[in-house]
Amino acid sequence: MIDFRLSTFTLIAAVGVTLGACAPETTSSPKDVSAVDVIIPSERFFTADQFTYANYQEVVVKHAALDLDVNFDRKVLDGAVTLRFERLKPGARTLILDTKDLLIKAVALETEDGWVPTRYTLTEADTVLGSAMNVDIGTDATQLRIIYETSPKAEGLQWLTPAQTAGKEKPYLFSQAQALYARTMLPIQDTPAVRLTYEASLRVPDGLLPLMSASQDGQDADGNWTFSMPQPIPSYLIAIAVGDIKFKAINDTIGVYAEQYILDASAEEFAETPQMEMANTELYGPYRWGRYDLIVLPPSFPYGGMENPRLSFMTPTLIAGDKSLTNVVAHELAHSWSGNLVTNSNWRDAWLNEGFTSYVENRVMEALYGERRAVMEQVLDLEGMKRAISEAARPELTHLKLPDDMKHPDDAFTLVSYIKGANFLFFLEDRFGRDAFDPFLKSYFNAYAFDSITTEDFLGFMDANLRNKFPDAVTDAEISEWVYGPGLPDTARKPESDAFAEVDAVSASWTRGDIRAAKLPTEKWSTHEWLHFLNGLPNLTQAQYEELDSAFALTGTQNAETAFAWYMQAIKGGYEPAMPALEDFLMTVGRGKFIYRLYGALKDNGQTDMANRIFAKAKAGYHPIAQRRIGDVLAK
Ligand SMILES: [Zn+2]
Repeated sequence: MIDFRLSTFTLIAAVGVTLGACAPETTSSPKDVSAVDVIIPSERFFTADQFTYANYQEVVVKHAALDLDVNFDRKVLDGAVTLRFERLKPGARTLILDTKDLLIKAVALETEDGWVPTRYTLTEADTVLGSAMNVDIGTDATQLRIIYETSPKAEGLQWLTPAQTAGKEKPYLFSQAQALYARTMLPIQDTPAVRLTYEASLRVPDGLLPLMSASQDGQDADGNWTFSMPQPIPSYLIAIAVGDIKFKAINDTIGVYAEQYILDASAEEFAETPQMEMANTELYGPYRWGRYDLIVLPPSFPYGGMENPRLSFMTPTLIAGDKSLTNVVAHELAHSWSGNLVTNSNWRDAWLNEGFTSYVENRVMEALYGERRAVMEQVLDLEGMKRAISEAARPELTHLKLPDDMKHPDDAFTLVSYIKGANFLFFLEDRFGRDAFDPFLKSYFNAYAFDSITTEDFLGFMDANLRNKFPDAVTDAEISEWVYGPGLPDTARKPESDAFAEVDAVSASWTRGDIRAAKLPTEKWSTHEWLHFLNGLPNLTQAQYEELDSAFALTGTQNAETAFAWYMQAIKGGYEPAMPALEDFLMTVGRGKFIYRLYGALKDNGQTDMANRIFAKAKAGYHPIAQRRIGDVLAK
């Protein structure tokens, strides 16, 4: 058969030559964008990070060594951090670090005479940024040690009582440093522009297992748990979890950590993670972080997942029992390339992390489960993103390059960065063709590996390595509209799901009264089809709510996505029988994606008293980030 392949290849090549450069999908071949002729533009663009005090262009921290007691009684991390730094500006005598709510006890410089105390000042605390810590680093020192402890109210740390865990016997701690909470865990240059390696030595109460976003190196002779992260990462990827945590391997290099009650179910739910890693590797090059493990956290974890390197943090709401929500695993794993390997240097460029990752996630879902599921996820994402655009406080917050006056970096983490970002890449993929675009993206991840860059750096790299080869594929105006313009451009891909078209037909026949709910052909519906059905329901009568609920037991369903979609409808239509289960959901689930909108919907539908009453009860169990966000929702 080799002759046949050769002749086919020759024919394709000949067609390409005939058509010329105006038809990129026929002229491209992998060698067009091979690593050999990748051009990395020498000009680098700078976007200031308005959420850091750090003077990282003068002095930059390269390594942090943590030595901490994890004190559950006082709810503090207590100990020291040693920072190794380099002077980029000769003669620089001050290192400026970010801190928030830290108790600084002593600061010393390493000198020829050993550790010597040095002067430092802390500025008045800003409610978002915290305090700048200005440290006198003398003229020759390269290491600094800070004795400190965190605050019990540190926004980046959630301390759970035993009652707040599933096992009910031991306490639990987990961190969330993105976007600017690392500074509540340690004094650090808390900007994604700075990458550092780290190591840690932790002491925890007997019977608890500590984990970090690092290699878990085990316990030393003195009982300290040791960790090392040899690859340079931004501060927002420093992470810690401590609890009654067990481990189950999926294969030799991938496994799951969780409380015992959910360990087996988690390993089963995430069993296809090795195939996801393989699909990523085939598309975008090697996984560069050693092991890849997941930890399923207690329900108060405010996110679906957090891409802490080597150890993604995951919400238990993904454990649906049917692998229907594992796109979040694909997402967090994809960050091992987009975000963790190539990082936005500031939060105005958050789409470089989240948009690329949402795109890669969908490509991996397609590779594993086929186009039908990938397109369903594209359609659901687009619906959510259009809503996010319509709800944006101002048009500038729907640009991919976000404005320089955001109040909080959380403003960068809307579906605009995720889904508009992914759709920009779908647009580019469609214009350049996968044959050219896939190897281009692979070369991009390789060119900027372990670097932090801006939107403009990406666009420059694309000019030098893709648009130069296919100058007619996209125009400057089209790119500018995507990156620097509001809303969703008309050039966006318009995915159409046959599966959803069938759901729409079924839904219409039910709401017309042609068929009873119990007879609807839902046996083969995936969670995606259910979400599309529920999200698309028109205004229903109470009898229709009851009919659906009795046919499908939607109230109290264990699939968190389906439950969320149903409760949103129930709130809209004032369907009382769902309210006790909704209250249970709000009391037990802390994932922001669900609870922010549920509280908002209660408020918008005249149920402010109920929202306030539940929040008052549930608040103590929510993560500090979720407490703040819901407070904002209810105060609006
Ligand atoms: Zn992400």
